[in-house]
Amino acid sequence: MVAVPPPSSLLDITPAAAAQALTDWAAAEGLPAYRVGQIAARLWQRPAGSWDEATDLPRPLRERLATRWPIPRLTLATRQVSQDGTRKYLWRLADGESIESVLIPSGIRRTLCISSQAGCALGCVFCATGMMGFRRNLTPFEIAGQVRELMLEDPAEKPTNIVFMGMGEPLLNWEAVDVALTILNSPEGLGIGARHITVSTVGIIPGMVKLAARPEQFRLAISLHAANPSRRLPLMPIEKKYGLSEVLDAAAAFRKRITFEYVLIEGKNDSERDASDLAALARRMGAMVNLLPLHPGGAPDLTPTSPPRIREFAEQLKVRGVEAVVRRSRGLDISAACGQLKVEVEGRRRQQPAHQ
Ligand code: SF4
Repeated sequence: MVAVPPPSSLLDITPAAAAQALTDWAAAEGLPAYRVGQIAARLWQRPAGSWDEATDLPRPLRERLATRWPIPRLTLATRQVSQDGTRKYLWRLADGESIESVLIPSGIRRTLCISSQAGCALGCVFCATGMMGFRRNLTPFEIAGQVRELMLEDPAEKPTNIVFMGMGEPLLNWEAVDVALTILNSPEGLGIGARHITVSTVGIIPGMVKLAARPEQFRLAISLHAANPSRRLPLMPIEKKYGLSEVLDAAAAFRKRITFEYVLIEGKNDSERDASDLAALARRMGAMVNLLPLHPGGAPDLTPTSPPRIREFAEQLKVRGVEAVVRRSRGLDISAACGQLKVEVEGRRRQQPAHQ
């Protein structure tokens, strides 16, 4: 039998696997068993920025931990705060790539929109991330670590809800997203209820099957944006590979209520016919619909549907018996559409002379 090498980071594996790795290490180091729980708690439950900060552990142990199990971090490159309270973070990764998260406070809810890939290969025409192309998949730590970093800033910052709607297509990075979901949800991890965690996909069918097979009640959102294939294809090239009807078949196997995400774009998907097609699909699937105004900075060649037409569109869904919610465009003053902050910051950096 081939021996499984010990993991290099406790934050890139599930909390159960981390506890096992720590148990093995503690035994080899001659540490008492109770230390394992103390150390493990500083991974996700009461995160420590470095072992040096874990002052509930004796100094010699902290030094041994720092050598064997260094704590990786995401480096905050830029933070923008909108007048409406929305906060956008640009994180620099260890290899120089960067990703974004957006925190959206609303009443007692604090929803964090997280990234699962650096860049994205799918090229949806309304998306700033799609324009930058694919860079690489994130690791489990780089995904769940977006929550961890907020908690390090202030434990009261812990989000109540997570949506995988930042950069990237989560179901094209299933291996890491699978582990990250466990970290986010498990009581030994971040302890966020599965019903408060939404995975949003353009419809990557193999990933949808794997997500549906998990026992937890994670929520599924489909980035629909048009309710028939000929209207969808010009907006979302993925329609060629995973066609709408197969995607909806896979969603039907999901057993839980799903949401359709629908960004309204003038002249592209906002006609009365579009509303009637969307209503028919939503009724068939028992789905609720989130209508999102196109973020003006996200796609310079497209025009957002006007607010009166958005209200009318929502009404056309409601009279057909569909639950539709018009989401406010948040963070209009801070580049809060997915991928925009990276484009803005890195574009600006490229334009500056190197000495700046
Ligand atoms: S909308 Fe999502 S899937 Fe489409 S290009 Fe942007 S990040 Fe990728």
